[in-house]
Amino acid sequence: HIAVLGSANMDLVAYVAKAPRRGETVTGREFRTVPGGKGANQAVAAARAGATVSMIGAIGADTFGAQLRSSLEHSGVDTDLLRSVETPTGTAHIVVDDEGGNAIVVVPGANGTVKGLTPGDEALIASADTLLLQLEIPLKGVLTAARAARRHGVRTVLTPAPAQPLPDELLAATDLLLPNEHEAAALTGIADDPRAAARSLLAQVPEVVITLGAEGSLYAARGAEPVTVPAPRVTAVDTTGAGDTFAGALAVALAEGRPVPDALHWASSAAALSVQRPGASASMPCRKEIDAQANG
Ligand code: ADP
Repeated sequence: HIAVLGSANMDLVAYVAKAPRRGETVTGREFRTVPGGKGANQAVAAARAGATVSMIGAIGADTFGAQLRSSLEHSGVDTDLLRSVETPTGTAHIVVDDEGGNAIVVVPGANGTVKGLTPGDEALIASADTLLLQLEIPLKGVLTAARAARRHGVRTVLTPAPAQPLPDELLAATDLLLPNEHEAAALTGIADDPRAAARSLLAQVPEVVITLGAEGSLYAARGAEPVTVPAPRVTAVDTTGAGDTFAGALAVALAEGRPVPDALHWASSAAALSVQRPGASASMPCRKEIDAQANG
């Protein structure tokens, strides 16, 4: 059983030839609404990967909120602890131009209200094998949840995104830190040397996995040499949500008691499948597909 505490957003994506400058109006080619938010994405990834998953967070009492709840439920995520609040659902306003570049405004909205745990949230975390955390809700909420997990002996996996300085207490309550290369560099000040960045992070957390895009991932634990697990060679069409797919699948494999290198191989198989299809949560593979990719 996996608990996820984090964000749920509706991504509002406009496709244009060239993004407008200040004061300018341009006509777009296409518009899409896409369920997103790192919390919701990781929850969907873990549920598709075959786990029982519950999502703790907040959405607005509005149309986007209702759409997000139903999209989570459609993937099998339990949303009993996803609160409907007065504040509007979080949104990401994304402009994608013809060169594939983007400009994004994120309005946290309801996500900004997740500052603590209800007794029900804490009971759920206590009963989970793993708690997945990211940083798209207030740090106070993340920290409270990490501490609760620690009290109940639940493994915490923290994706430190968006990158920001982390309080020592949060790292102290984290079992596995899961940054991508950029986040690892931001946290340590060490760029272009993931092994050195991982070693530096081990001063504060017992286990680190740094995802390296097409290069795979690097695992480091205290007292052992770091190991690199390569990613399957695939043709990527859309890497949005690759890290979240990886996190969700990794949590499932670890909760099943698989050794970390096996779990990483399985997670990278899941992420490799997701990058070959467009969309974030829409592209996340189910367990059968992950098994086939991992054993193929
Ligand atoms: P994020 O999506 O958070 O930026 P990464 O880019 O590191 O994180 O990707 C996360 C994981 O997704 C990688 O560790 C890898 O397993 C997988 N992945 C990403 N891009 C590719 C790719 N081009 N080919 C194969 N796997 C990929």
